[in-house]
Amino acid sequence: MAEVNGSDYALSILGPARHVEWEGDFPADLRAIVEPVFAPLEVLLPTWCQTVILRHSPFLDSTLKIEISVRNRWALIMVGPDWFSHPAAQRENSFIHELCHVLVEPYQWTVARALDAHGPEENSAAHRLLQQVLSDGLEQAVEDMARAFYRVLHP
Ligand SMILES: [Zn+2]
Repeated sequence: MAEVNGSDYALSILGPARHVEWEGDFPADLRAIVEPVFAPLEVLLPTWCQTVILRHSPFLDSTLKIEISVRNRWALIMVGPDWFSHPAAQRENSFIHELCHVLVEPYQWTVARALDAHGPEENSAAHRLLQQVLSDGLEQAVEDMARAFYRVLHP
């Protein structure tokens, strides 16, 4: 059996280097505020997510918004104007929350596909109820994970 050296082990748990992309029209002065908060949290990203895109979204009506593609291995995080008005701890926790969504997305994606393929008829009351149960359960789990990670990061 081949011996695993330290760097092989590190690669096996950390995965290959990922790419963080700041969209070109992300204002430099705002990026200078966001990047020091986001960069230390990149360690929370699962290995399946190979590209993270950060977008400045001046008309976003929530603090942050995320879109995720498990199939294409990327996550897009939109930063709205509200994010900048929050205290430091809340800014950090909101990023942790979105990164926890990235962590659970393969589960969400798989269950949603199984529900579509084998669940009640699409758009039926039972189908909508199951989607709501899945969505609410995941949201609670994500927020619990985010708070746990925050406590670990700030013992
Ligand atoms: Zn959420």
